[in-house]
Amino acid sequence: MSRRDQRFRRGTKGRCCECGCILSHWYYEKEGQLYCKKHYWARYGEHCHGCRDTIATGVIMVAGEQKYHPECFTCMSCEMFIGDGDSYTLVERTKLYCGHCFCPGEVSAARSASSLTKRPHTVALVSLPPHAGRGLSVATDLSQETGPLVTVTGLDSSTLSPELLSSVHMGDRVLEVNGIPVLNISPDEINCVIQDTNRPLQLTIEHNPQSPDDPPLSNDAPGQRQLS
Ligand SMILES: [Zn+2]
Ligand SMILES: [Zn+2]
Ligand SMILES: [Zn+2]
Repeated sequence: MSRRDQRFRRGTKGRCCECGCILSHWYYEKEGQLYCKKHYWARYGEHCHGCRDTIATGVIMVAGEQKYHPECFTCMSCEMFIGDGDSYTLVERTKLYCGHCFCPGEVSAARSASSLTKRPHTVALVSLPPHAGRGLSVATDLSQETGPLVTVTGLDSSTLSPELLSSVHMGDRVLEVNGIPVLNISPDEINCVIQDTNRPLQLTIEHNPQSPDDPPLSNDAPGQRQLS
């Protein structure tokens, strides 16, 4: 979970660079420019993927690239709130399921609708129990400019539960370990935490069918072309 990068300060007076109103109490600063609250959020605010409104304050729920108000982070099947640390699966960036309602059948249905060969894009938070042998290994690629690229390189089907095997696949990208973005953890620590079977482990995993590791599609045209 990410906490908002909220840049406001209290004190000296200034003017909003957009509307010129005097900023006497709270103001927001970004890249050396001052803003009133309204214009800061108009320009830099995040939009909730659920209700499309601006997320102005407080905690945001993050599933891959999508951000939500906590109250908008609900399962589309049972409509229960999905809390911080609860398992979930977000299919094709839009369909959000709690850990109880997600079943691989949904993925198969989506797959047959869009493409015969690829699983759809998913972001899932999965929990691995302690004391069971991990059954999962990862590799960290530090050559990426955007930060470490952690991918699943090994899955042991005799150790992992069927639900896990339906949510995690070889080559999937690990975004967070126990809620901490991999960007903020050293590669050694990532391995330590993953191999430490005394503790439960939570991984946020992205399966991106458009990732460069997959065989390239025939072209970048929107939609899927199917050969018959
Ligand atoms: Zn303003
Ligand atoms: Zn919302
Ligand atoms: Zn549900």
